[in-house]
Amino acid sequence: MNSKTVQVKYCLLGYGYASLIAYDKLVENNNHDDILILKNKNFSPIFTLDHENTSFSPLPIFPVKESELYNSSLFEGVSKQEPISVSFSELTNFDHTEYELKEGSLADFMIKKQGVDKNLCLGLKQWGDTMFSRPFSQVQSKIARHYISKKGNTRVGYIDGKSLFKYAVDKFDPEVLECNGVNEINIEKKEIYTDEYTIKYDKLVSTIPFSILLKLCNLESNHDDSYASAFFYFFKYEDGFKENQIIYDCDLNSDILRVFSLTDNFLLTQLRSDKYGEIPVEKIRDRVYELVPEIEKLEFAQELYVPMAYPLELISGASTLKSLETLKGNDVVPFGRFGQWEYSDLHELDWTLIN
Ligand SMILES: Cc1cc2nc3c(=O)[nH]c(=O)nc-3n(C[C@H](O)[C@H](O)[C@H](O)COP(=O)(O)OP(=O)(O)OC[C@H]3O[C@@H](n4cnc5c(N)ncnc54)[C@H](O)[C@@H]3O)c2cc1C
Repeated sequence: MNSKTVQVKYCLLGYGYASLIAYDKLVENNNHDDILILKNKNFSPIFTLDHENTSFSPLPIFPVKESELYNSSLFEGVSKQEPISVSFSELTNFDHTEYELKEGSLADFMIKKQGVDKNLCLGLKQWGDTMFSRPFSQVQSKIARHYISKKGNTRVGYIDGKSLFKYAVDKFDPEVLECNGVNEINIEKKEIYTDEYTIKYDKLVSTIPFSILLKLCNLESNHDDSYASAFFYFFKYEDGFKENQIIYDCDLNSDILRVFSLTDNFLLTQLRSDKYGEIPVEKIRDRVYELVPEIEKLEFAQELYVPMAYPLELISGASTLKSLETLKGNDVVPFGRFGQWEYSDLHELDWTLIN
């Protein structure tokens, strides 16, 4: 079958927040028709989920009040919201000496930088006990940037159950080409091949997972591309827990990492993802009643499992680094948390890279 040819200045590969915001940045200096988002039909972004009459952003994605991104034109016309309020339950059932501590591990880093405190307990729940032996260098970097650095990190809450990022991207109307997946990318010819289309581009910005991009471009890699998942139970309730509050659960025996009230009647619990499929709903419901004693008529709504949520190790490895240089030299820009394989938030991305 002959494929149809499409020619554009910028091709944005992947359809998530990073691609949509990149579209907004590019359209400031380019024509709408110069920019094309290439979307794989088989991978839907999780911007919102629905439960009965509630539509909600399932991932706790908050803009940072002090950031350049939040203060940019992206949020023009988006209503203001208060910062989230954060609290911690009492540190219980946690004895770090039960684990063998390896030098250079994430736990070693946290103890040296923050001491033995609630963060170490939460880290153990989020990353599992291998944090006592493996570096998880991406997580170390994130802790240094977000919690040890003195940079402002005030997180702005949801409106009506939705992340402000969702309202920001809803304003855009980019050209989107849907396909069943990319077969190959020829970076010298600057062409992307799908079953139906050949897309010729001047510059390619890719937000799809970095290892997949390298394979499509026939480039070698030898970095550690392991990742952690995220797991959630959502509950509706009648009263007793106002919107935009986060409670971090510092009891090691509880499977909850944090509870976040998306609205006055709907919450998410982020759970230990290493226990995916094994956590009884009743156990979580009982623990939420303990954490928020005023809450009334808690009722399970649904669950969500996100297999690839957090990159764990920084990119190293000679052949991957060489491939990165090759990509750059051929106007291919890996971009975003999964595109760059960096445990980063949207406000930390260098948006000048895409121009
Ligand atoms: C629990 C949690 C909390 C978070 N909190 C925040 C926060 O507070 N602030 C913040 O800025 N960010 C936060 N994030 C990160 C947030 O998810 C990212 O910043 C944001 O979604 C990145 O957008 P993206 O477009 O780069 O990635 P995505 O939306 O994941 O898009 C990646 C693209 O790759 C495609 N893709 C995925 N897998 C494949 C595959 N196998 N083959 C081909 N294509 C594929 C997808 O379809 C999509 O097009 C959080 C994430 C999690 C899991």
